[in-house]
Amino acid sequence: MNIYHPIQELQAFGIATAGISLRHGGVSRAPYASLNLGEHVNDDPNAVETNRKILFQETGLTNLRYCRQIHSASVVHVNEETQPLAEHIPEADALVTAQHNIALGIFTADCIPIFVLDIETPAIGIVHAGWRGTFAQIAINAITQMRTRFGTRPKNCHIHLGPSIQKCCYTVSAELLTQFTAEFGSTVANGTNLSLQTANIHQLIEIGVLPAAISVSEFCTACRTDLFYSHRAENGQTGRMLSFIRLNAKNESAR
Ligand SMILES: [Zn+2]
Repeated sequence: MNIYHPIQELQAFGIATAGISLRHGGVSRAPYASLNLGEHVNDDPNAVETNRKILFQETGLTNLRYCRQIHSASVVHVNEETQPLAEHIPEADALVTAQHNIALGIFTADCIPIFVLDIETPAIGIVHAGWRGTFAQIAINAITQMRTRFGTRPKNCHIHLGPSIQKCCYTVSAELLTQFTAEFGSTVANGTNLSLQTANIHQLIEIGVLPAAISVSEFCTACRTDLFYSHRAENGQTGRMLSFIRLNAKNESAR
């Protein structure tokens, strides 16, 4: 049984490994059953630790960096010199690096994990985009940070919007919908529902990412609780998937 879904759209370039965990194959009990990787959802910490080991074993992931996610628009640059996680977990909602020995991770259960791969530099980023982060344009912040730090150009970026709640299920207040349509155009609305994916795509194209270089997961987390955790569909009592990306070492292909 697969315990994660590889992001083939990005792995196809042969320079990065990217994926998102599924909810099966772990040891957590309901309502976290079973591969919950989030530490702050009241699951048994020992189960979470075991689940992470299971995923790392299966994917070959090492040196994972992540952040304490606070629905902000803050981006953290990590490299070998930044402190290891045991000492300091930064508060932020996106991570970027140009080092191949560092894996970047984001935890979600409906929010969009946005994977960024600059195939030229190369460099990577990962973003946690819920409605707050999307409205605050965190994806733009992440690519801007990559441009500043690594010289990344948006036209060289390939972006994947991973499994997340989509317009079929994401009903929001009329007030929030109005805010989004005013900022990002009427195409973000689907009746009384919101497409956070469309709002992010709008931003990415605006800063110069090529439309053809943006892919969106076929999976809506709220429709597919057989595969994924969904905060909305499970009334807030559920686990978290881990989305991850890392640059492969030279002469190493994706697993
Ligand atoms: Zn749906």
